[in-house]
Amino acid sequence: MIEHARLPDPVGYFEQREGLRLIGRGPWRSALCPFHDDHNPSLRVNVETGAFRCMACGAKGGDVLAYHRARYGLSFTQAARDLGALI
Ligand SMILES: [Zn+2]
Repeated sequence: MIEHARLPDPVGYFEQREGLRLIGRGPWRSALCPFHDDHNPSLRVNVETGAFRCMACGAKGGDVLAYHRARYGLSFTQAARDLGALI
């Protein structure tokens, strides 16, 4: 089982844990995409939901769990455990 309320706050996760520099204001911010060799911030992340979408390589997902899975090639359960959301 996964407890979504225990997933990390998207801003803290993306900035502190993943080291992304979030640019802009409002719910959707831009960042350099870690899923491809990015030189212009192509990744859009939603700091309220954790959703992400890269305009260049097509990486996308709906929350920080999906991001964590994609970034590190983890299963749903592995990613949830890693993020402290497995109960
Ligand atoms: Zn990308």
